[in-house]
Amino acid sequence: MYHRFLLAIAKIRLLRLLVAITCSSLFSISAFAANSIDGIRVWPAPENTRIVFDVKKKPEYKYFTLSKPDRLVIDFNNTKNTVALKKLAANDPRVKLFRSSISKGKTRLVLELAQSYQLTIFPLAPAGQYGHRLVLDLYDKNRTDEAKSKPKSNVGDIIIGIDAGHGGEDPGSIGGKGTYEKRVTLAIAKKLQKLINKEKGMKAVMIRSGDYYVNINRRTSLAREKHVDFFVSIHADAFRTSIPSGASVWVVTKRRAESEMAKWLANREKKSELLGGGGGVIKNTSDSHLALALADMSKEHSLGVSFGVANNVIKELKKITKMHKKTPQNGNFGVLKSSDIPSILVETGFISNHREEKNLTWSKHQQRLADAIHRGIKNHFLAHPLTGSYFASVGYKKHKVRSGDSLSVLAQRYNTSMSKLKAINNLKSNALRIGQTLKIPRTG
Ligand SMILES: [Zn+2]
Repeated sequence: MYHRFLLAIAKIRLLRLLVAITCSSLFSISAFAANSIDGIRVWPAPENTRIVFDVKKKPEYKYFTLSKPDRLVIDFNNTKNTVALKKLAANDPRVKLFRSSISKGKTRLVLELAQSYQLTIFPLAPAGQYGHRLVLDLYDKNRTDEAKSKPKSNVGDIIIGIDAGHGGEDPGSIGGKGTYEKRVTLAIAKKLQKLINKEKGMKAVMIRSGDYYVNINRRTSLAREKHVDFFVSIHADAFRTSIPSGASVWVVTKRRAESEMAKWLANREKKSELLGGGGGVIKNTSDSHLALALADMSKEHSLGVSFGVANNVIKELKKITKMHKKTPQNGNFGVLKSSDIPSILVETGFISNHREEKNLTWSKHQQRLADAIHRGIKNHFLAHPLTGSYFASVGYKKHKVRSGDSLSVLAQRYNTSMSKLKAINNLKSNALRIGQTLKIPRTG
């Protein structure tokens, strides 16, 4: 018994010793361990390519460029590379090839470029599902001329900016079955784009048309450069439980986010910037001053339009999906902050709800959502057309005939003629029926 007891103690001691040795050797490895590049993602976009390096620890790096041919060289100190480089540049127009070499524990990455680019390079601290990252943006040097050009639209077109939420590094919310919000939002945005471009008097501008990240400031400055009249941002909601469901429509107000859901949404947007990579956010300060000045001048007007469209979109969404909220919600978040452009944010449903996650990936349901958003926007601008727009010339008001109304009374009241009223309402005589609905032309 006693022997066994001693033996047991000896075993425990041995074990402790082993544990101690293992721990100290592990510790000594990690103390001297090199950093490592564990992932590289390439996100080509119309104006730039973003390249993201996942690194185990905060990166120590230096970089320089070479010309003839154009190359970018990044030296990662004390780092090994574990990523296969061969196919990385396959789908990117700006990087032709990645190469690497290693000497004295330093990994040298060489990017062979199609031409020279404006570049920004910055580390990002861990956020969400990501650890330490080094982010590299290669911007086309002549991008501004192209970007500032007005889209090919006809005189009188209302230009609708369609903003598919998230993209690239930022997946948005992720559903239980692994659905990425960024894919759902882009699918709905593309369907909406088609509907709007088919509509006479409307023209769509896509803020994002592929799987890449556009930072929040750039989203609004793009909208301004493209002379957008109305801005719609498309998202899919998520909450910490799977219970909430239904769609909602948000309008920006200066008030601080009050409801729990509004706070949640505002936080998610901040997180989105961290995931997507906050580069460029700091650079555009002068721009945002201008935005503030403009916002103050036209805030009232744009808020009215935003609420008007929000109400119309809700009316249409109600017909095809459950509503989480039946009235426009107030939020105060980045993408809608540029209130010189009237805008709404549509949460198309909860990706965190199992049934809605399934629906949101279903093309037919995406189409219904796009249809509803399109009809809502159209109905608003038909009823309240912008001055000089095509809709101003085709829109009709409605009038329900009451006792005492006659064609001549109505013609006078609505500043039009009896013959015009008769023509557009297909009336054969001057007689009106009480309760009858008449179309009234908008312009005389
Ligand atoms: Zn979102």
